[in-house]
Amino acid sequence: MNVHEKYGLRPVINAAGTMTYLGSSRVSARVTEAMNAVLPAFVEMRELQRAASRAISAATGAEAGCVTASAAAGIAVAVAACMTGTDLNRLERLPDTSGLRNEVVIQKGHSVSFGAGLAQTIRLTGAACIEAGAATACAGYQLRGAIGPNTAALVYVVSHHAVQTGMVGLRECCEIAAEYGVPVIVDAASEYDLTGFLAAGAQLAVYSGHKFLGGPTSGIIAGDLPLVRACYMQEKGIGRCMKVGKESVVGVIEALAQWRDRDAAGIKADEDARIDFALAALNRLDGLAADRVADPTGNPITRLGVTVDEDRCGLSAFDLCHALAAGTPSIQLRTHETGHGRFQLDPCQLRDGEIERVCERIADLLRHPVRPELATRNGGDLSYLSLLRWPD
Ligand SMILES: *Cc1c(COP(=O)(O)O)cnc(C)c1O
Repeated sequence: MNVHEKYGLRPVINAAGTMTYLGSSRVSARVTEAMNAVLPAFVEMRELQRAASRAISAATGAEAGCVTASAAAGIAVAVAACMTGTDLNRLERLPDTSGLRNEVVIQKGHSVSFGAGLAQTIRLTGAACIEAGAATACAGYQLRGAIGPNTAALVYVVSHHAVQTGMVGLRECCEIAAEYGVPVIVDAASEYDLTGFLAAGAQLAVYSGHKFLGGPTSGIIAGDLPLVRACYMQEKGIGRCMKVGKESVVGVIEALAQWRDRDAAGIKADEDARIDFALAALNRLDGLAADRVADPTGNPITRLGVTVDEDRCGLSAFDLCHALAAGTPSIQLRTHETGHGRFQLDPCQLRDGEIERVCERIADLLRHPVRPELATRNGGDLSYLSLLRWPD
């Protein structure tokens, strides 16, 4: 019996990408075997995290690193570390930040939601989140104006979620922050580039272990040794609520080795072939117009963007995504543009034969359009409505 049958779950065809709500990524046998080997054993967690620090340094070029429960946990812990340093008394007082530098500056266009709000993740530590500039425009003078005597850190977000134009770039942010002696934390949760953000001058970079890296649910902090040490120390304080287990630390070490050894060109060629297939198949359907879309932050992924002509299809882009997700198997597409009449297909997590099934199901649906049961046009509202019904 497979896992879906055992627990009564619908199988999923994932054309959405590395999404936390779908279980992030497929963890390989190489990684699960390493995790299985440590689960029945005792280890000194500090020794294991020291081994992780070496593996993270090797992958990122950083002085040190540690593994956290998730990238979100990594961001919270990194912010806490910038406020407390390695002073255990300060650390134990959080989220009471009296007497500490307790403000975190972020460009307004970087105040994203990755399923939860980044500003809330920062505020969880007791820090105040100071947003600089406007949603679509932030300049150096506005960043300087937002930095003051209480600034503990600047958080910089590299993500398709962030506004991609009108912001101050990372290098300049690091230069400005350095003028004030303020460390820069980069949220690079979903980025392939493991070295560039630190090389650009950031003190800490935070990655998700369970997105592209294909590890277990986990986060990675890489950066300057005194700050990473202060990050790891947060396990004596607020970090305890975000504790990471031995299996995840081992999983991250193995996932980093696997990432180093992967056949990047071969993987990219397979992904591009899937996108080429879908481009031709979907452009043949009346009412759909498909085109290739480069990743906005420069990850080496080409996705397919599909515009839905609602009048000709009898369905909106949102209806189409929702109907495919509601079927069996559940077909998951990228839905963040459905409010603008588009959806995207992501090739990264698809297996052989799946893109063909996705295109067939889209063609079937357009032949017999069914509008979904929950009437809403917005994914956030839909998610909220279904949570209100959960566990039904
Ligand atoms: C996914 C994501 C996160 C959260 O990562 P987790 O490891 O799931 O906590 C944070 N920031 C960005 C930009 C993300 O894409």
